[in-house]
Amino acid sequence: MTSTTDRVSGPASASAGATLPAVELVRDIYAGGRRAGRPVISIELFPPRTPEGHVTLFERTLPEMQVIRPHFYSVTYGAGGSTRDKTLDIADRIQREHGTTAMAHLTCISTPRPQIERYLLEARARGIRNILALRGDPPQNADELAELESGFDYSYQLVTFIRKLGGFSIGTAGFPESHIACTEGKHVDWRRLKAKIDAGADLVLTQLFFDNDDYFAFRDYLVDTLGAQVPLTPGVLPILSTRQIKRFTAICGATLPARLLETLERFGDDAEAVADFGIEFATRQCEALLAGGAPGLHVYSLNRARAVRRIVDDLGLRE
Ligand SMILES: Cc1cc2nc3c(=O)[nH]c(=O)nc-3n(C[C@H](O)[C@H](O)[C@H](O)COP(=O)(O)OP(=O)(O)OC[C@H]3O[C@@H](n4cnc5c(N)ncnc54)[C@H](O)[C@@H]3O)c2cc1C
Repeated sequence: MTSTTDRVSGPASASAGATLPAVELVRDIYAGGRRAGRPVISIELFPPRTPEGHVTLFERTLPEMQVIRPHFYSVTYGAGGSTRDKTLDIADRIQREHGTTAMAHLTCISTPRPQIERYLLEARARGIRNILALRGDPPQNADELAELESGFDYSYQLVTFIRKLGGFSIGTAGFPESHIACTEGKHVDWRRLKAKIDAGADLVLTQLFFDNDDYFAFRDYLVDTLGAQVPLTPGVLPILSTRQIKRFTAICGATLPARLLETLERFGDDAEAVADFGIEFATRQCEALLAGGAPGLHVYSLNRARAVRRIVDDLGLRE
């Protein structure tokens, strides 16, 4: 294992005399967590669609999240690179203005290789040292896909490319219920995940799930059967709206257990009751995951601070 803490070598935009934040490689954050026997808490954000949303993220949401001192944030990348610049801008600002490490997501499907390389070089120039390497989802329209020049078909190829470029800690996506498009069964999908790890990924962040047995079966197969040695961090989504979670699970293929759905539907239009229940459910889910040995928690925050704060505080995880 190579370097530990790194300093952002500030580009011209950094204000003169400002203290530049310590940016850690995420693999080192996990190594530190393991040594200290404490879970790594990470929060996923998405680039807001509007300028107002952007202001809210930096002026309200992030300061509220910073209270719990997460170990790192990750910032999503829109399909087909639609939020390319925003992803890097947000990751950069989090590191500079809040002094917390940020991981930028990057998808590779239907993206020319030089464009991927430019993104990585720009990330590096801005002191972003952590990349979540993803394939992304193909465009719905097959003609559109055929027209696009594609650099890579699968994310393991992106992981290999980034590893060769050097200088990054690399994360990859794992699917406790198997990836929605994998027709060969979950063990095949999990062996493909092992191939991503073997290509150079330092950690895995999982898709959301609601039955912890799915995570533990996934973890045990990866570790005991395939010999994976990197952190396999569960991704947890606190439910804030019944309609929204039905939509998300339909898109990503995660199971919304019938009993959970029944409970949510009993709350009807009472949005506050749904969110209260959803946060409590996620808290108990996180508690059991940590008790079962999960190395950390990756919270899909949906750019809301309340749920992640409550989970961390209820479980006494604030440092
Ligand atoms: C934590 C997390 C964060 C995410 N963030 C984003 C984001 O920011 N932006 C975004 O657009 N999407 C994001 N996604 C969604 C992700 O891009 C999709 O789920 C995508 O469909 C799969 O990406 P992947 O990197 O897992 O792909 P891959 O690892 O390439 O796998 C995709 C499919 O190909 C199959 N496969 C892999 N290797 C092979 C092979 N050698 N031969 C044949 N089949 C193979 C797999 O079984 C799977 O079915 C995220 C998902 C997760 C879990």
